[in-house]
Amino acid sequence: MAHPPIHRVGLGTDLHRLIPGASIRLGGVDVPSDRRADGHSDADVVIHALIDALCGAAGLPDIGEHFPDTDPRYRDADSRTLLAQVVDEIRSLEYAVANADVVIQLERPKLVPHKAAMRDALAGLLCVAPAAVSVKAKTGEGVDAVGRGEAVACTAIVGLTSTSNSP
Ligand code: MG
Repeated sequence: MAHPPIHRVGLGTDLHRLIPGASIRLGGVDVPSDRRADGHSDADVVIHALIDALCGAAGLPDIGEHFPDTDPRYRDADSRTLLAQVVDEIRSLEYAVANADVVIQLERPKLVPHKAAMRDALAGLLCVAPAAVSVKAKTGEGVDAVGRGEAVACTAIVGLTSTSNSP
């Protein structure tokens, strides 16, 4: 007998310091800027938040346990490959991504021209249609680390649906 699908949700957040540079990697897209995000890997806060959301939804260890920043294998890592690895893990647990919603907090530049490219890139990595991915952006209103241009942050939430008919 077929069982109804199981639905789960997960939440993730990330923040990286901004330092002088040429572009900020966000959702797998290089956004031209006079800053870059500092970090052990490519410091893509969107993908890092999404990885933690996926791990949370699936009951897996968090990003820090999956990919320790003390491990030289992850120095300058392309976060897209890390996300693809986590999506594979989730698929092996017989879950598929239903949707993902992310909120990026960055004072400048404006992200409107880059949202569609981020959405397409993330949809490809999550194995869903672009319509299942939402990318939203906010500033820090000039206060706190984001508002002073010292940091970029992201919050992500994902939904998973079971693909197995087992209870
Ligand atoms: Mg991070």
